[in-house]
Amino acid sequence: MSWELIIKQKFSAAHFLKNYQGDCEKMHGHTFQVEVHIETRDLDQSGISIDFKHIKQVLKSILPDHQVLNDMYDFSPSAENLARYFFNELKRTYPVARVIVWESEDTAASYSGK
Ligand SMILES: [Zn+2]
Repeated sequence: MSWELIIKQKFSAAHFLKNYQGDCEKMHGHTFQVEVHIETRDLDQSGISIDFKHIKQVLKSILPDHQVLNDMYDFSPSAENLARYFFNELKRTYPVARVIVWESEDTAASYSGK
């Protein structure tokens, strides 16, 4: 028996991609949506596994809202690399199964550590 908790949160940020030829090599912004999947097997007496409120707080604390991502990280801030970074950060606290970073409504990168 297992459950998957899914939490979504948005942040706005600017970035550009190095070593890339095309529009994304120039500075531009996105409203990113981060989708976190956490796998759990146990429920407490109230019928929940991990309080959504706590997960949202932790997620909010690691999301770089209104930042220039290239100034924040030493990696190229693509959706793929951001998904891996958020996954590793959240993994310290929760049994994260996957993190999906939506860069637009119809494009996303998913990282599961596999
Ligand atoms: Zn972009």
